[in-house]
Amino acid sequence: GKARIAVTGLATMGSNLARNLARHGFKVAVHNRTPAKMKALLDEHGHEGDFVGAETLQDLVDSLQTPRQIIIMVKAGGPTDAVIDELSEILEPGDMVIDGGNAHYADTRRREAALKEKGLLFVGAGISGGEEGALNGPSIMPGGPAESYKHVGPVFEEIAAKVDGQPCCVHVGPDGAGHFVKMVHNGIEYADMQLIAEAFDLLSRVGGQTPAEISEVFTQWNSGDLESYLVEITAEVLKHVDANGTPLVQVIEDAAEQKGTGRWTVQEALELGVPVTGIAEAVFARSLSGHTDQRKAVRDAFGASEVVAKPDADLVDDVRQALYASKVVAYAQGFDMIREASKNYDWNIDLGAMATIWRGGCIIRAQFLNRIREAYDANPDLASLLVDNYFRDAVQNAEAAWRRVVVRAVESGVPTPGFVSALAYYDGLRSERLPAALVQGQRDFFGAHTYRRVDRPGSFHTLWSGDRSEVEA
Ligand code: NDP
Repeated sequence: GKARIAVTGLATMGSNLARNLARHGFKVAVHNRTPAKMKALLDEHGHEGDFVGAETLQDLVDSLQTPRQIIIMVKAGGPTDAVIDELSEILEPGDMVIDGGNAHYADTRRREAALKEKGLLFVGAGISGGEEGALNGPSIMPGGPAESYKHVGPVFEEIAAKVDGQPCCVHVGPDGAGHFVKMVHNGIEYADMQLIAEAFDLLSRVGGQTPAEISEVFTQWNSGDLESYLVEITAEVLKHVDANGTPLVQVIEDAAEQKGTGRWTVQEALELGVPVTGIAEAVFARSLSGHTDQRKAVRDAFGASEVVAKPDADLVDDVRQALYASKVVAYAQGFDMIREASKNYDWNIDLGAMATIWRGGCIIRAQFLNRIREAYDANPDLASLLVDNYFRDAVQNAEAAWRRVVVRAVESGVPTPGFVSALAYYDGLRSERLPAALVQGQRDFFGAHTYRRVDRPGSFHTLWSGDRSEVEA
């Protein structure tokens, strides 16, 4: 018989996804631009399930049941367009093209609209979990027309990670919704990693602890509220020593790289007007770390900052609480961004469902996401995750420790942009009056941009260069 589904692009992600499909009993047709990769997959893993090798895209199309479903797992950007163009020439109306790469959601919107013209269904599916997830169960965030999910949803749910018996896959929404949510997932991942790194830095430089000791701390934290994949792997990285017996973290170059999804998240947040300060600080912290020449120049000019370790009994637990509260803020901001985009593009995204499908398979999987799901299930219209009872209590309980940690960091000269900006965000939202009033006054002064008043309706302008009386605008 013919294959149920196809994968084209058999690098790490594509071949693992194809194996995952085959292991779940789906007959899967496989293709790669360079056929050697397809042959290698069949040689090494052909015994794992029912594969059909295809030398050309035409062969791939011919090997499939109709309506056809083809997953593209090639390099994002131009290569994805090239494959889509070629496929759209040979597919028939009703067939479905699924892009599982890290596409920008705007590209996904464009591609979906173009394929619709040709009667083809297009699904932009965010897939998280790296190579391990692709093979053993990723978190899958498919967007696209609802009818497409009827065909491909059951397959994806079968191969996705499962938590409490529930698949980490749900139809996210139309056109670019899936890739948008995947992008924000990655942005949150940046923020979470940065906060963890700051916690490590404080325990190391203020706490005077060794990487091995800090590894123990993270292992302990991983059995509480902070239980998560990222905390778990942090403990692993910190306890690892290189061939010389030196803690690896002390010999890795301290310049963090990025592939771009964090930057996209911040760019889109700027467009949407959503303050994702935690993600932005994380992206900028990586870029600061990479400016090694500039860092050296400033160190030479001022002398390297000298941090004197001053451990105290409360430091470890204070840092734990600061990490937790800052993390709540980062997730609150990420979910705000999804809600805003959903409104903007009419995606109708269920925020609780996003927390549900991130509980397994993906990099930010964590216990914590159960609480987020409960919060949005109880109230889909939450003004902020911070006001949910559970998170409000958690942040309130952590607040004093959070402030102590920020003070310690600032006094000691340990940079903690994530902790500091998360606290500033919280204080910003909580303030009865913000100095935004003064900013409005300044804008009115130099640009006659007008302001509103707290005591009566309407827009006003003060005649700053005249007699300084107020006029209604
Ligand atoms: P790569 O991003 O390294 O892409 C390599 C694949 O793309 C190869 O199969 C290659 O074929 C194919 N390719 C490149 N250019 C073209 C072209 N012009 N026409 C046809 N095929 C082309 O592979 P990954 O497996 O790392 O990632 C696949 C996708 O999944 C990417 O979009 C990536 O962003 C995304 N992703 C990756 C994750 C990861 O952890 N790596 C996690 C989640 C998503 P050939 O062998 O012939 O060169």
